[in-house]
Amino acid sequence: MAKVGRNDPCPCGSGKKYKQCHSPIEAAEASAERALRQAPDTLLPKLLDAVARFADALPPALDLFWNGKYHVHTVQELDEDEDRGSERFLTWFLFDHLIDGQTPFVRLAADTVDLDLSEAETALMAQWADIRLQPYIIEDLIKGQGFTVRPLWGDTSIPVEDHAATKRVEAGDLLIMHILPVTTDTNFITGAAAHLSADTLDPLREFAALHLADLQRSQPDATYADLICNRSHVFNHFVMALPRDGKELSKLDELVVHTRAMLNVATDSMGFGKAEAPQLAVPAVTEPVASEVLERSEPQTKPS
Ligand SMILES: [Zn+2]
Repeated sequence: MAKVGRNDPCPCGSGKKYKQCHSPIEAAEASAERALRQAPDTLLPKLLDAVARFADALPPALDLFWNGKYHVHTVQELDEDEDRGSERFLTWFLFDHLIDGQTPFVRLAADTVDLDLSEAETALMAQWADIRLQPYIIEDLIKGQGFTVRPLWGDTSIPVEDHAATKRVEAGDLLIMHILPVTTDTNFITGAAAHLSADTLDPLREFAALHLADLQRSQPDATYADLICNRSHVFNHFVMALPRDGKELSKLDELVVHTRAMLNVATDSMGFGKAEAPQLAVPAVTEPVASEVLERSEPQTKPS
């Protein structure tokens, strides 16, 4: 669109000059949008500081998120052993952890007096209550700007702005992360996003299906949306099992086998008659240990 001169007639058709009609309105909108785009950088630290108010809930949450690997007295090892460990945990605790059915974020949003929020920060608070840790598939890269993602169990395409991340990711890759809505068509990601290569998709689906089947024992109608709202910590357990280097994915198979055994979910009990449950999504996992033992214990051919 050609730039409208300040003394030109306003494109809205009011008959007034642009500078006396829509120019100041558009300038105010642009300024509000700039403030919104900058607000996550100041709002997130304020919220992460404020989670100290929920100190009593931190130890059980730490246990849940890290699957028993870290406790309050070993929490200083988090950043040494896990990439951005404290940030990942605190972001999840803020947005996902349920304390008597409510997340710390929702509790903070109910009374923001002590948070000393700007107008833009307050506007963001109003649209962040539904943020949860969950897997997304990268659909398209928008060079130099970001990419579009689709929730693993959804069909909405979400544009995400992240200049730095576009250099590291490819279409088909997975991101397990929190998406922060900023303006109507702008979303950011938190720094603690986990990046997974495309070949982790099948193990992840299988792993999540086991957890959904387990959730359905107490909530028969539970869907993946319920899994995300109630047990998003399991996605971190999956990230923890990822190999840090190389393409060795056998650890993920082990995780699936272990999860199946731990939750005691049988393949044939899953997804039956549930619209959103996976059908045939869980192939029988070969159990290498068992089959190996079996082979080795077979009697050797006797020398004749
Ligand atoms: Zn106008």
